[in-house]
Order: sequence, then C-alpha cells, then structure tokens
Amino acid sequence: MLDALKKAFGGGDEPQPSSGKGNDITREKSAELYEKAQRYFPGGVNSPVRAFKSVHGTPLFIERGDGCYLWDADGNQFIDFCCSWGPLILGHNYPKIREKVVQTLEKGLSFGAPTALENELAELILEHNRYIEKIRFVSSGTEAVMSAIRLARGYTGRDKIIKFEGCYHGHSDSLLVKAGSGLVTFGETSSAGVPKAFADETIVVPLNDRRAVGAAFDQFEGQIAAIIIEGVPANNGLLIQDREYLHFLRDITRQHKALLIFDEVITGFRLGFEGAAAHYDVHPDIITYGKIIGGGMPVGAYGASAELMGHISPEGAVYQAGTLSGNPVAMAAGIAQLTVLKSNHFYKNLNTKATEFVAAIQRYATAKNYRFKVFQIGSIFWFAFTDKEAIHAASDIDHGSMDYYKAFHRELLNRGVYLGPSGYEVGFVSAAHTKVELEKTKRAIFESLDEVFRTMGAPKS
Ligand code: PLP
Repeated sequence: MLDALKKAFGGGDEPQPSSGKGNDITREKSAELYEKAQRYFPGGVNSPVRAFKSVHGTPLFIERGDGCYLWDADGNQFIDFCCSWGPLILGHNYPKIREKVVQTLEKGLSFGAPTALENELAELILEHNRYIEKIRFVSSGTEAVMSAIRLARGYTGRDKIIKFEGCYHGHSDSLLVKAGSGLVTFGETSSAGVPKAFADETIVVPLNDRRAVGAAFDQFEGQIAAIIIEGVPANNGLLIQDREYLHFLRDITRQHKALLIFDEVITGFRLGFEGAAAHYDVHPDIITYGKIIGGGMPVGAYGASAELMGHISPEGAVYQAGTLSGNPVAMAAGIAQLTVLKSNHFYKNLNTKATEFVAAIQRYATAKNYRFKVFQIGSIFWFAFTDKEAIHAASDIDHGSMDYYKAFHRELLNRGVYLGPSGYEVGFVSAAHTKVELEKTKRAIFESLDEVFRTMGAPKS
C-alpha cells in the first residue's frame, strides 16, 4: 500500500528541479510537528490533501493568518491563495468576524437549543436569495450534501442519483464515486469501505455530455431521484460548464420528475451572493452551501422551496439532525462575513481584481510560449500546465502535467506564495489581496514559471 501511494504521489524522493532562489524555505519546525503528528493521525493529518503528498516537502504547519498572509511554524510568511480552501473570502482574521465571534463566545459556546443568531443568519441569506425559501444549518459541506441527497430521495421516493465524474461532494458514501481532487490524487475512483450496494445507486456520467445524461434517464426510467452537480466543478481542476448545459440539466430533470441539486459549497457566496444559480440563471430544486457561509467556522446548509423543505424532520419524514447544528459562535462568524459580502460592489470589485490578476499571468505565459493556462471564473482560478483553450471534463486533464505543478508549487513557496498542495485544486482571490500582494505574486509566478520551464522543458504533447 505504502509503495502504491508513494508511486501515486511521486514519493518525494525523485530529483527535483532546483530552485532559482537557492535553498528551499526552512521547514524544520513544520517537519518536527509533522513527525509528531504522524504518531497521532493517519498520514499525520486530519484531512488527506493537507499531507502535501502530491507536491514537494512536508506540510507546513500554520501558526497564524492575517489578511491575505499566513505564517508557518518556522516563521515563513506567505501570501495565501488557498484561503482555507475557500471560506476566507475576506482573508484571515477579519476584524468584524473576530469581534462578533468573541462577543458571542463570551455568552457560551453551545446550547443545543435555538438562538436568535440562527434566525439572523437565515434572514440574511433568504432575504437575498431568489432560489431558496427555507434553509437548514448543519456543520459541514459533506453533511449538507448528504442531507440534500436524502431529501431528494425521500421526496421523490426514488433511490438513484446522477453525479458527474470529477465532481466532489464531500465524503458521504453515495458520493464517493469518481469524486474530485483527493481521490484523483490517490488514483482511485472510489473509496474502500463504500458498500457496492451504495455505489450502485450512484450513476456517474462525464461532465458536458448531454447524451450520457439522456442515456442514464433512459436506462433507469423512474428510478432517478436527482442530478447533483457542483455549481462550477472546482474540485478536479476548474471544469467550467456552458450555461446551456446547466439549463439542459434543469430541463431534463423536470422532464423526468427528478430534482436538480446544485452543490454550491464552493460557489455559494463566492461567484456572487446567490452563487452559481444566479450566475447561470438556473433555479435548482435544492442548493447546498458550506465554506464561506460559516466565515471560517464549521457551517454547512441546504435550502429549497418551503414545500420541499417541509419534508425535513420535524415537519416531515426525512430525518436529519445535529448536536452542534446552528452553533451560535459559527452563526456569528457567518453573519459577520455575509453582512460584508452584501455591501455594494463587493463581488464586482473582487471579480474584477481576480480577472486582471489572471489576465496578467496568462499574458506572460502566452508571450513566453509556455504550455500554461489559467482558467478562471469570478475569484476562483486554476493553474493548468496545458495548451488546451478549454477544459470541460475530467478526462481532458493531462495527469502527467501534475509534475509541473509540483515543481511550480515548490518554486512559489520559496518565493512566499502559498497555493493548495495539489495541481487539481483551485485557488481563490480574497478581498484581502491588495494590489501590492497581487503584484508581488505575479512576479513570483513569472519567475517560477521561468524556472519550471527552464529546468523541466516543455510538457510532452
Ligand atoms: N461539496 C463541495 C463542492 C466541496 O468542494 C466540498 C469540500 O471541499 C464539500 C462538498 C464537502 O465539504 P466539507 O469539506 O465542508 O465537508
């Protein structure tokens, strides 16, 4: 097993391209902490991709974050584009979120009873969202999606779900089939421990392929409860779908009396306050949220029409509960964050900034004739070592190019820029990234690209 994983991850012991900046950043303290962590946690981490297995070196243990900066245990400073995998759209340690959290926790951490804060966050969301009438708060994106699937099954009385190859929807059993980055990185299409009977209820089709969806409905007529798709598939590269395709999914689900679920754990409150639903002007039946909704605290949610949500317990027969659901401190963080996002021009400013940043990088790579593309939607971006103009499906990704990402990641870390430790992961521009840091980052990216292509040459076609 270890050998297989080592192979899949490159093992970290093959020759690395040298860094133009001389020595690698010091990672002594992080390495010490990682060694200790391996005694306590499988693979030394509490979530797999954090283990840095598909990039160079040991994971960085983070000491603190402020604005768009991170500091690791060795005192290295980084401009952060991982942003805790998306939640931190305002950056780290945002004063208004911190203040509201501190005020709230002074009154107690958890009551297991309703609080006014749940109403406040729900009101903030529902009054500014045309697509859902009622919401239920949970504690993670996984939980939100798992519950949405149960609701779809309970409501339709059908068992099967259509999901797309490369879309990740959290780690609940039915959805760990041909999921996103972590699994692609592992080179497995599904997880051990998922009963075949569960996986059999999940029909996996390629993205951007109308015929495959039509064939699934033909083959399983009357058995499909829902189609689930990420608002923008962003867990296996950034697989931007055409607007027409999403409208096609809306039409075909209606036609077959199945539900359409938008998993907006990444895109919710990211593409805009109303997420991908508004971006594409598609009205899904159920929407799931996570990440940004909790302002950096563990919150997920799912929402739908009042009629559909009436099927959730205690009103309806679909059971779903949570000891820490609607946790006051987490609600407080969500309220503080979403209040800022609602302000005028927030998304326009953020998205314009991201577009300019990405365009400058692309211009540089194109001028240098590098096989390198930056895909972007709103403030989400993905660096791909490819010359394809568009990548819509998981099968279009060149897995061999991930070695280039590995080298690129190392070069960027050495220049003080922190990206997610896998070439399948997207990056995020936050409101905290100012012109100064974006300029610094661009310079670091230009130098890193030069170094990667100088030492590794052009990827093979
Ligand atoms: N759905 C999507 C689209 C995600 O990107 C993720 C996590 O990255 C999840 C669901 C699962 O969320 P969580 O990690 O909070 O359980």
